[in-house]
Amino acid sequence: MADWKITTYREEQVAVMFTIENRTEREAAKEAMMWLEVRTADDWTMTELPGDIEDIGERCTHCGCDCSFGSGRFVDRVSSFTASMRGYLCPECQEIE
Ligand SMILES: [Zn+2]
Repeated sequence: MADWKITTYREEQVAVMFTIENRTEREAAKEAMMWLEVRTADDWTMTELPGDIEDIGERCTHCGCDCSFGSGRFVDRVSSFTASMRGYLCPECQEIE
């Protein structure tokens, strides 16, 4: 999930700018296409906004351990979000929570 900035262009000028929040890239693109401004634009772009949430990749947001494939925690990991991080929750920490 991320926030996306949509910019539409008309006659090589920026026409409209707006943001779509908390979507995957696919969802955001789909949602953007529902906007009349986007459909009628000469061109449009979608860029990811840098969020406040740090993507820690395949690490546990709780203990910081490696949850990647081959770590032994890959199968039972679950996606995890905290106020400041995006990552996974390892099986050990799931039992604590
Ligand atoms: Zn953990």
